[in-house]
Amino acid sequence: MISQAIADARKIVIKIGSNTLAKADGTINPEFMADFASQCAELMKQGKQIVLVSSGAQVAGVSTLDRWARKKDIHYRQALCAIGQVELMDHWRNAFASRNIHIGQLLLTKEDFQDDHRTLNMRNTIFTLVDEGVVPIINENDSVSYEEIKIGDNDNLSALTAILWSADLLILFSDIDGVFEKNPKEFPDARLIERVPDITTLRNTITIGSTNGFGTGGIQTKLEAAEKVTAYGIPMLLANGGREQCLLSLADGKRAGTLFLAREA
Ligand code: GLU
Repeated sequence: MISQAIADARKIVIKIGSNTLAKADGTINPEFMADFASQCAELMKQGKQIVLVSSGAQVAGVSTLDRWARKKDIHYRQALCAIGQVELMDHWRNAFASRNIHIGQLLLTKEDFQDDHRTLNMRNTIFTLVDEGVVPIINENDSVSYEEIKIGDNDNLSALTAILWSADLLILFSDIDGVFEKNPKEFPDARLIERVPDITTLRNTITIGSTNGFGTGGIQTKLEAAEKVTAYGIPMLLANGGREQCLLSLADGKRAGTLFLAREA
């Protein structure tokens, strides 16, 4: 079913979480990025169009500076993102350059999605980049956004992006295989839920834990993202970015995940 969802989709938004981009020691993982870019290139050769939403500005900032990791002060966090965003994109540029693919950067905030002129311009930019074979890479503009105006997590940002671009599929890569009935880190026998026709029913059947690791989201923000896109007829796939050939193995039907089915229009 997952491989069919990917086969049926031409326009795919893929979100990569900070935990997927970071090694166990919290530094950025360029090998993963190179490998992931190659997988995207393979899908693009098959005629797919890809927009990436990449977290990891903070992780890259900490990797570069090797300090401020524990500072909670908003200005330090924003400064860290300003430093890390450049590094992050440098890694992505190198990763895609080895497959002769250009990338373009869009840094967005919640307010951008609330303004008609801005959304039109963002949409036009994304369409133009993709039409020209360039991979847009999106992140929140962390250094200008603060608590009241920020989206806050890239799960919701990627959902807004998928709706803006009228994507056929949203894939969220995280450090979990999908949604489980109970926390798989506590209960090894927890069952993976592979198909979600109704998110409200799902909410009543699972226990939602808190965020862990370096990411901002958690299962809560993933469900919010799923609610957003499925209401627009876009299915969402949640899968583990830490698995080998994470993208292609899903496309080949060799890997499981959780597929949230699009709601009928
Ligand atoms: N925008 C943040 C960053 O790049 C990540 C937000 C998230 O992890 O959802 O560091």
